[in-house]
Amino acid sequence: MIKATLKKILDLLFPKNYVCNMCNSEAYEPQNGICENCIRKLKRNTEPNSVKISQTDGYTWAFLFDKTTQGCIHRLKYFDCRYLGEFLAQFIAVEEEWQIDCIIPVPLHIKRMKKRGYNQAELIANALGKRLNIEVVSDVLVRVKDTKTQTTRSKSERAEALEHAFSVIKDVENKNILLIDDVCTTGATLTSCALELKNAKAANVYAATACYTPKK
Ligand SMILES: [Zn+2]
Repeated sequence: MIKATLKKILDLLFPKNYVCNMCNSEAYEPQNGICENCIRKLKRNTEPNSVKISQTDGYTWAFLFDKTTQGCIHRLKYFDCRYLGEFLAQFIAVEEEWQIDCIIPVPLHIKRMKKRGYNQAELIANALGKRLNIEVVSDVLVRVKDTKTQTTRSKSERAEALEHAFSVIKDVENKNILLIDDVCTTGATLTSCALELKNAKAANVYAATACYTPKK
């Protein structure tokens, strides 16, 4: 009884400290916003540069996209949990030798942006930019093709649908760019963005995502 009352008081005083950002369940003093159970299950990236994404000069990710992380990504994308962008960004480690000039979030099509009200990739990019003190530019790359949900498509179908789906509308010449997205599934989105940036004479295009879906 006393314990329950104390917990209620603590919840009022420190509400966000008592919910795990991954599984959304109550947690006692979660570390970096993650409960003990999720910490045990999370698969962090332990091998930098182990995944190659076509057209990029380097790629990194923070967590594997699996049962432990999918709830968090889902709430970030569809349930207006914008604070999760900052939460996820803290786990993205960027290679110092990349010498990034600017960060560009993978854009949403204007129709989807209007419907959702925000771009989840931009939330992650903004938090990362703030931490690394690197400029975030969200008006350089635009999505000109509104591709339908990609989850049921094969890798080649995705790549085809994403061909010329993006357009570069501002100068990126000789810049080292870091592309940011929430999840990398087949890499087709990052490849398509990187190709357009390279065509616009960007020096190097790197990419980082909060989650990575392993190849089956
Ligand atoms: Zn948890």
